[in-house]
Amino acid sequence: MPHSCCIIKCTSRAKKGEVSLHRIPKWPLDRREKWLSAIKRKDPTATNQQWTPTASHRVCGKHFITGKPHENKQHPDYVPSKELGYGTTNRSRDTSVRRFTSRERRQEKIDRETAAKALIQLQQSVDSVSAELDERTKDVGTQTDGSVSDIVEKCVRDCLNLRGILAELREENNKLKRDLADQRFTFNNVKKDIHFFAGVTIDCFTFLSTELAPVLQNKSISCDDQLLLVLMKIRHFSSNIDLALRFRISNSSVARVIHKVIPVSQSAHVNRMLMLHGSISLHPVLATFLRPLIVWRERDVCQRNMSSLFKCFPNVISTIDCFEVPFSRPDGLTARAQTWSNYKHCNTVKFLISITPCGAISFVSAGWGGRVSDKQITCDSGFLDKLEHGDEILADRGFLISSECAARGVTVHLPAFTKGKKQLTGKEVVTSRQLSRLRIHVERVIGFVKKYKILQGRLTINLVPLLDDIVVIVAGLVNLQPSLLPS
Ligand SMILES: [Zn+2]
Repeated sequence: MPHSCCIIKCTSRAKKGEVSLHRIPKWPLDRREKWLSAIKRKDPTATNQQWTPTASHRVCGKHFITGKPHENKQHPDYVPSKELGYGTTNRSRDTSVRRFTSRERRQEKIDRETAAKALIQLQQSVDSVSAELDERTKDVGTQTDGSVSDIVEKCVRDCLNLRGILAELREENNKLKRDLADQRFTFNNVKKDIHFFAGVTIDCFTFLSTELAPVLQNKSISCDDQLLLVLMKIRHFSSNIDLALRFRISNSSVARVIHKVIPVSQSAHVNRMLMLHGSISLHPVLATFLRPLIVWRERDVCQRNMSSLFKCFPNVISTIDCFEVPFSRPDGLTARAQTWSNYKHCNTVKFLISITPCGAISFVSAGWGGRVSDKQITCDSGFLDKLEHGDEILADRGFLISSECAARGVTVHLPAFTKGKKQLTGKEVVTSRQLSRLRIHVERVIGFVKKYKILQGRLTINLVPLLDDIVVIVAGLVNLQPSLLPS
């Protein structure tokens, strides 16, 4: 609804370009009062009540001398004053505006004069102060009495005191810096507990760090710390946020370091694709570096270094077993089915491991879905290709590979089967006992491997592609430790 003027007898309405309409001010209160008393309207319901305007009431420009309200209190248009419908005199209207303008001009002139005077005074005082200062400087230069020498002496004393305080503060600052450096989680600060944190001896760590230094250049974290971070991830399965807080780097930096130091060993094609997209580098990193420590030994080498425990099986070159690493449930149904382990009752990745008769790890297969049988993983992982005619291996009951091995002239010693038999023969009992006593060592080595907690905990799906390399790293590190078997 278009607004109209609320002044008595005024008929102005809001039409385009004709007249301006103005709200009755709510604030300040005294101005509002002045406006209301100028409008002089009576409350239509109760005769003696004061009229209260609503938000839609307006006053048109016709009631202001200049055509619109003015914000200055002194201005005659601070309040509407023209054609108010109750017979005001128009006599003084022009004069009041003129008076206001001349008053403004006068005030402006006064202000300008005051400012000029203040400026002159300021200049004079600055001149006098600088003259006084010059005078005093001259006096100090020429005076030779006791008071000046006292002042000089005091100044020298103060200066010496201040120097002493400065030296103390510097020393304290250096001490605090040293303390702060000591409190940070770095290789240098945890050196003496390195076996706990990284699962390797200090010599082994230094060796690895020296070898890897050229490829582990990083501005925010030293080579030693990168290696420590990765080994802590493997040994303690520390969360990325824990590592980020310890090493004072971002979460994403932790992930970058882990993926850089443990390369993803996928097919050459995938690797090439990843390299093209810049997400993997060709660095010869930890897994690549430790892989040569897992060496397949020929029979004569095994026999030369054989532990005395194996003297009843002199041609044995390997004891095999499998271990499984649990991981979080994958999304795909096929992946879920292929990795489900009935033995562990969760989704796992399964590895075949072989140890020599002296206790070293001589073979680790790539990871297979947890559903795979012991027989299939042994036949398809490339393990059988390592064997030569006349070799003997020890295995558990699940490894039904006798016929495959026999084809290659290899003997498999399995514990005697009781199925379908009333009783084992005396010889079978003795051999089974001997086998169990020897087979326990591969389980001990697996136990040793599993001390690296990343292989115990339930891995997140994003770490599964790294698992082959993690197992290689762990096997390499286990081979760097003293053998579990007596010589
Ligand atoms: Zn009006």
